[in-house]
Amino acid sequence: MVTYGADRPHGGVTGALADLADADAPQPVDAVAAAAGPLAVLADLITGGGVAILSGAGLSTESGIPDYRGPSGLARRAEPMTYQTFTGGAVARQRYWARSHHGWRHIARAIPNAGHHAVAELERRGLLAGIITQNVDGLHQAAGARQVVELHGALARVVCLGCGGRTSRADLDRRLRAANPGWDARVTGISPDGDAVLAEEQTADFQFVDCESCGGLLKPDVVFFGENVPRHRVHECYALVERARALVVLGSSLTVMSGFRFARQAAKLAIPVVIINHGPTRGDALARLTIDAPLGQTLTALLARLPGPRRC
Ligand SMILES: [Zn+2]
Repeated sequence: MVTYGADRPHGGVTGALADLADADAPQPVDAVAAAAGPLAVLADLITGGGVAILSGAGLSTESGIPDYRGPSGLARRAEPMTYQTFTGGAVARQRYWARSHHGWRHIARAIPNAGHHAVAELERRGLLAGIITQNVDGLHQAAGARQVVELHGALARVVCLGCGGRTSRADLDRRLRAANPGWDARVTGISPDGDAVLAEEQTADFQFVDCESCGGLLKPDVVFFGENVPRHRVHECYALVERARALVVLGSSLTVMSGFRFARQAAKLAIPVVIINHGPTRGDALARLTIDAPLGQTLTALLARLPGPRRC
């Protein structure tokens, strides 16, 4: 059973169906909407189609991927890797690649959860305008979604800062294993969370590699702290939100401006914003409806309320 807003001081549901249709300012709690059920409200809205999804780390936690706050979703709480640090010194890159090499197997074996599958199903039913994700794990696509803009890039790709070439992380993984025989075995068991802090002596002898084509510096194809999301990608997302009938935020606290700006843009254009997240978000004041609940269960329950897939 899904409990709405169980641990929110002000209750988990705000807004009303009427508000979704015409008002553009945040609305107070509406007892009618709460009684009708927040999912019914959301189902009504989604049935109209043209919905833009903005997803964040909270959607992937049920797949076992930790929710690290930060532009790339990779940042440690205490010690974020910045673009400047990464490009500024070989020791920082060695430490990064050692940790990342250890963590990659965890990311690589993560599988989509019920939330990702529900989003892919919404797309298959023709109800989505598109999906913007702040996640770098590729799980939307793994669930079958196609129209996905990866705002912060993808861990499954590597980019060369010299020639701009993009290669697969799986290839790099093979090269790093070849360059570091036996290294994996020595660090196994440090941490299951995919972002272990390895002891200095464990990273000191790690051999990282450069671009095979030009010898340039390789970097995961994700946006680090201190780095901007490519402008064309931002424009693509703004355009997507602009043509959407509604923006549904899934599993993001919208703490980072990188994602928050799209909620703000939608609200400015009087496009209804709905937020499903565990815990309050920076965008709550912009939302017509907020639901504080586990994503997988909630989205599965939502699907059950929608008309079935069209059959040809
Ligand atoms: Zn290169």
